[in-house]
Formats: sequence, C-alpha cells, structure tokens
Amino acid sequence: MITRTRFNPPLAAVSRLALLAVCASALMPPAHAQRAHGAHEHGVAHLSVAIEGAELLIELSTPLDNLVGFEHAPATAAQRATLADAEARLSQGAELFRLPEAAGCVLAETVLDSPWPLQAGKEQPADHDHDHDHGVGAREGHADLIATYRFECARPAALDALRVELFDVFPRLRELRAVRAAESGQGAAVLKPGAAVLSL
Ligand SMILES: [Zn+2]
Repeated sequence: MITRTRFNPPLAAVSRLALLAVCASALMPPAHAQRAHGAHEHGVAHLSVAIEGAELLIELSTPLDNLVGFEHAPATAAQRATLADAEARLSQGAELFRLPEAAGCVLAETVLDSPWPLQAGKEQPADHDHDHDHGVGAREGHADLIATYRFECARPAALDALRVELFDVFPRLRELRAVRAAESGQGAAVLKPGAAVLSL
C-alpha cells in the first residue's frame, strides 16, 4: 500500500472523481446542488464512490471538526496526538470501508490531504514551505480533510455494497452524504449511524 500525505492522486482518478462530482450535483436535491462537493457543515461529510472496471475509488471530504473536534493548527500535545491518531485511522482504509469478500478487493493507494499532516514517520516534503494554507485549507476559521482511496478488485461484479465504519471511529460524524457512479448506474444516499451501508 502506498500512503502519501500530499494530495497528488493519479490523473485518471482525479478525472473520474471530478466527473462523479458533476454527477453528484445532478443527483443532489436543489438545496445541495450548488455546493454538493465540499460543502462545510459540522457533523456532515461527503463520500463519492466510483467503480470503473476493476477499480473502486472512494473520496471522503469532511470538516476536520468531525474527526478531531477542532479546526485550527494543533496547539497542544493532546491536540497533536488527536490529529495524528485521526490521520492514522484514515490511513487504514480497509478498516473504514468494508467491501464484499467475494469481490477480492485490496487497498492499492491512499492519499490524505490533511490541513496539518502529522502522521508519525511522515516527513514534510523538502519543498514544503509554510506561507500558504494547507490542503483545502482553513477558510473563515474552518478546515476540511480529504481522503482518497483506490481499491483494486479481482471480481468487481461482486461489488454490491459498501459498509462504512466511519461513524464508530469518528462519533462526531452524524451524517454521510454519499454518491456513487458505476457503469451500471448512479445514485445517492444518506448514511447515518446504524444505517451505514451504501448499495453499489
Ligand atoms: Zn468548520
């Protein structure tokens, strides 16, 4: 598994997720259409799932508050530990997104775009200066984190559902607005604690 902390996904994945974002806008109710992707509402996160051939792509976009309870640069050892733990949990995509065993999926790539990357053992790139906002950045006192996962599946025809474990790991998260796109069709669903299975 490759884990990177800079947001630099493969171009093909970007174009597919961008396409999905367009689809998501079309599928969302009008109230959500204008900011379907990346709207910032505490307690709510957005999930995009795309299946293309043997690849399953997942993008999670969430206010940082849902993960750690604050949206500023960590100022204390406790806040640094909380954020590092959240980033570590998000790096374990196979624990957060459960796919049918029959599909034979393996997590091939994870990209975390955290506003303040803290994962143990991860060095800041040498060219990383600090005169800019990290990631999607802090805007008006808010900050988002985006995590992208690429699974490769031996039997994609068996991909019928995705169970999301995020609510147990991050209890501040109350609602996950999900969109999915595959060659077989598109759809949208709202996942909640106790109802966290997305039909594919
Ligand atoms: Zn916020």
